[in-house]
Amino acid sequence: MLPTGTVPDGRVTIDGTRIAPNAPHGTPRGAATELDATGHWLVPGFVDLHNHGGGGASFSGTAEEVRKAIHTHRLHGTTTLVASTVTDEMDVLVRQAGLLSELAEQGDLAGIHFEGPFISPCRKGAHSEGLLRHPDPADVRKLIDAARGQARMVTLATELPGGLDSVRLLAEHGVIAAVGHTDATYEQTVQAIEAGATVATHLFNAMPPLGHRAPGPIAALLEDERVTVELINDGTHLHPAALELAFRHAGPGRVAFITDAMDAAGIGDGRYLLGPLEVEVSEGVARLVEGGSIAGSTLTQDRAFQRAVTIDRLAVEDVVAALSANPARLLGIDDRVGSLEPGKDADLVLLDENFELKGVMRKGDWVIDPQLA
Ligand SMILES: [Zn+2]
Repeated sequence: MLPTGTVPDGRVTIDGTRIAPNAPHGTPRGAATELDATGHWLVPGFVDLHNHGGGGASFSGTAEEVRKAIHTHRLHGTTTLVASTVTDEMDVLVRQAGLLSELAEQGDLAGIHFEGPFISPCRKGAHSEGLLRHPDPADVRKLIDAARGQARMVTLATELPGGLDSVRLLAEHGVIAAVGHTDATYEQTVQAIEAGATVATHLFNAMPPLGHRAPGPIAALLEDERVTVELINDGTHLHPAALELAFRHAGPGRVAFITDAMDAAGIGDGRYLLGPLEVEVSEGVARLVEGGSIAGSTLTQDRAFQRAVTIDRLAVEDVVAALSANPARLLGIDDRVGSLEPGKDADLVLLDENFELKGVMRKGDWVIDPQLA
């Protein structure tokens, strides 16, 4: 077994909801069942840190819609998912945090990521400008409290008034402070990392570009070993060369492949809503109807896997780390998920030789049964 959790011999033993130690071939192990995935890639279930919805439903919707979005991504191998909100009125976010925290308590979500409203109007992307606000620690605190222990990450423009105090507050509460939708300089970003920020929200997107005299947030986030960088590997958000540059510089242990998916993921083209804003999806690319800004993705993590291996030519074990082990460690749940070690949840993905998804298991139950002989 590799440290990142791929199983080269294609065999794994499942005992109830968990992975059991591999028995010598042919040994009966009571209720445990041995899965023989010879001819497939057997990798840990994917962990998505940043995801707004899928299957025509969003994490800003009703409990039923949230469940639909969760199920859509499970069908694409994401067995652990953090629900991301978008900028809205504070009372709307507080209410949604209550709803999402219930689903997290039931084990359907791995927590909540608040993206906005504490972001920069200069780099707002697909967030409503009129609803943006400075990261006042009192407001940040309101969202943490509303999430009842299920807040996992807040994306904020740390250069705004209250930004560094908010980063410290988040760090004190064990919530990830993520630098993103930011207009910060290199120096301001270094300060944010010193204050406790540990994630770059979709590195490159919604931040100043890397300049040779003004290296901006990208250089600061890439160079610091305490930071994990999110990358959206859909071929639209990042040129493959930019993705490769980040991957090589940060190293395979500091990258998390996220989807940043919106409602159209797993469905297709059409008109959708992202929070309060209207989005047109055409040829798989989501853009705001007004202004044309890229508005999330239609990516699923199985496609991110396939692209990373076949187009970006990254090593399978590095891709597995970026899709499973690294985000699990960041969330502090790597004792349960993120690799295929005995004792962990039986969350598995089976891919064929072309890296097409063939099977998904979550906590010992097939979401997609690969019909192994
Ligand atoms: Zn997002």
